[in-house]
Amino acid sequence: MPKRRLSQQQKRRIAAKQQVRRESLDSPQDALNTPLQPGLVISHLGKHLLVEATDGSQIHCDSRQNLGSVVTGDRVIWQGIEENRGVVVSIEPRTSFIERKGAYKTKALAANVTQLVIVCALNPKPQSCTIDRYMVLAYHLGLNPILIVNKWDLIDEQEWFNERIHAYQQIGIPVFTTSQECSFNSKLLQTLNDQISILVGQSGVGKSSLLNRLQPAAMAETGEISEQKGLGRHTTTTTKLYRLPNGGSIIDSPGIRQFQFLAIEPSQLFNYFPEFTEYAGQCGFRNCKHLNEPDCALLAAAQKGKIAPFRLDSYTTIYQECVEQQQY
Ligand code: GDP
Ligand code: ZN
Repeated sequence: MPKRRLSQQQKRRIAAKQQVRRESLDSPQDALNTPLQPGLVISHLGKHLLVEATDGSQIHCDSRQNLGSVVTGDRVIWQGIEENRGVVVSIEPRTSFIERKGAYKTKALAANVTQLVIVCALNPKPQSCTIDRYMVLAYHLGLNPILIVNKWDLIDEQEWFNERIHAYQQIGIPVFTTSQECSFNSKLLQTLNDQISILVGQSGVGKSSLLNRLQPAAMAETGEISEQKGLGRHTTTTTKLYRLPNGGSIIDSPGIRQFQFLAIEPSQLFNYFPEFTEYAGQCGFRNCKHLNEPDCALLAAAQKGKIAPFRLDSYTTIYQECVEQQQY
């Protein structure tokens, strides 16, 4: 294919642009002549960022083109351009990074999250493996899972949940029951301290209501209040970080709320069930998939009640999903 010929004028214009870009990348400080300051990205919508400065003020920033995606939760270095406006010039190393892979492009969602708060409710009651899918997601992302069982006032399904709550507690996962009628358990508030958490869970389980109760500013900011019980629906379209009154933060993201991440290598899945790992290497077949092979140590442990049978069922279901996912 013949190369497109550029006119002299076009060439000069391109060269000038490249020169400006090089200069601003080589010495960003000189380019702006304002001090470099640390900050935390508390919301992002495309390239537009809201950065919290160390004095708590909020600065509207753009980010330098060469930085790639800057997301909520990123610790950054920024420079002022004018009152309350600035530019992000670098990103501090991240401890974790969450992105959603779509068919056509991958969307970066949040950084430096430490904890995945899985919210479920007595109604809508989750399908058997829904909670475990989120647990797998947490471990896959390197985050600590905590489980909140909301709408505990609805009573009917408490028995179904009690069996599960017991199993999760045995594995060492913190579990809390909540209801909008009752104030929060102080242990729950402690668990959120010093952490950056994200809320995930099916629609309608009460994530907005929880967030609004944990940080009333979330509702004030997002406006729309549902008529039902005066709580609920909040319609944020951006990913936002809310500081909690007692310390800790929650990132709320429409992209993460119902995130289900299944692009997991099936053979890795075993490692995301912490109570399974003590049986590693004990099955009859060295490459046992723990589905229904003879002499499987996991099946035997489930039969003896050493691991909760519903967890092994979830493993089987999620394993099949991982295999199907691989075929796309
Ligand atoms: P989200 O989709 O997960 O954000 O769920 P919402 O926060 O919008 O809540 C869905 C519905 O559940 C709303 O009508 C809430 O009023 C209701 N809800 C939230 N928490 C509780 C609770 O603890 N008990 C009961 N009975 N209803 C609740
Ligand atoms: Zn096995």
